Amino acid sequence: MKIFSKTTIYIISFLFLSASFSFSQKEGNYTIVIHGGAGYISPEIPAEVKEAYQKSLTAALNIGKKILDDGGTSLDAVEQVIRFFENDSLFNSGKGAVFTSEGMHELDASIMVGKDLSTGAVAGVKTIKNPISLARLVMEKTPHVLFAGEGADKLGKKFGVDIVDNNYFDVERRYQQWKIKHQKNIKGTAGCVAIDKYGNITAGTSTGGLTDKWPGRVGDSPLINAGTYADNKSCGVSATGQGELFIRNTVAYNISALMKFKGYSLQKAADEMIFSILPEGSGGIISVDKEGNYALVFNTSSMLRGIANSDGVFEVKIWK
Ligand code: ASP
Repeated sequence: MKIFSKTTIYIISFLFLSASFSFSQKEGNYTIVIHGGAGYISPEIPAEVKEAYQKSLTAALNIGKKILDDGGTSLDAVEQVIRFFENDSLFNSGKGAVFTSEGMHELDASIMVGKDLSTGAVAGVKTIKNPISLARLVMEKTPHVLFAGEGADKLGKKFGVDIVDNNYFDVERRYQQWKIKHQKNIKGTAGCVAIDKYGNITAGTSTGGLTDKWPGRVGDSPLINAGTYADNKSCGVSATGQGELFIRNTVAYNISALMKFKGYSLQKAADEMIFSILPEGSGGIISVDKEGNYALVFNTSSMLRGIANSDGVFEVKIWK
């Protein structure tokens, strides 16, 4: 007995196929999101400071957008954007990193590729000019995932990355915040997440950590699952804020898990972690999902951030 006509079968197959394709972004599209740290920047800051932030965020976003536009990978876009932040002393990553309680700089960074969950990270490095690039080398050239302290600095030397004296990272503004004003809770950090034209997601994060942190303290930024996560099956996430809280709550991974196991949308999963699980004032995340949707969510008063995509969206923002 014939239950379905040929035409009905064609229609059913077509609907099924289009439904499965609608789960990933359109080929040739891309999306990139960036952050320069969540915190409490006063809306009263001088116009030139605001302009400087906006100018740097715009420049960072343009670097990533151009790479993706030209058909480059999300891995290259994320690394290059974060290198820009690390070289710009406005941000708490690389040059301009905050001071530890002993007046030094200890830097953390990680990168993760959603195609195969490969990842690399460094923690507590003192002489690596661009920790994000060393994190990428850990991922690509070692059988390991995370290198810490002296061993990580030595690895950088072995791989021939740019090495600097620890005082290269000094900037006067950070010294004042630490030594003179005793501002312990400065939040900064740089992050980037992108999906490229081939549907691959990469996430990366780089930070100097928290002002006046104890020597040896490691935050969430170099910890996959806490501060950084990427999986092509769900989303990519980069976090910023009070690292201890992001570690305890496995924030970056849980956003992906809520999508994968509970069917949440990216926005719902990010809102759940930032507003329901974390206490107010702890920080925020930027994220992109496999369809190219983005969510930039924070529970502080400000998060330096930006979005660009192949549909012509290009925005940088500081406050809500
Ligand atoms: N999450 C970073 C840390 O705890 C700091 C920050 O994002 O501002 O090390």
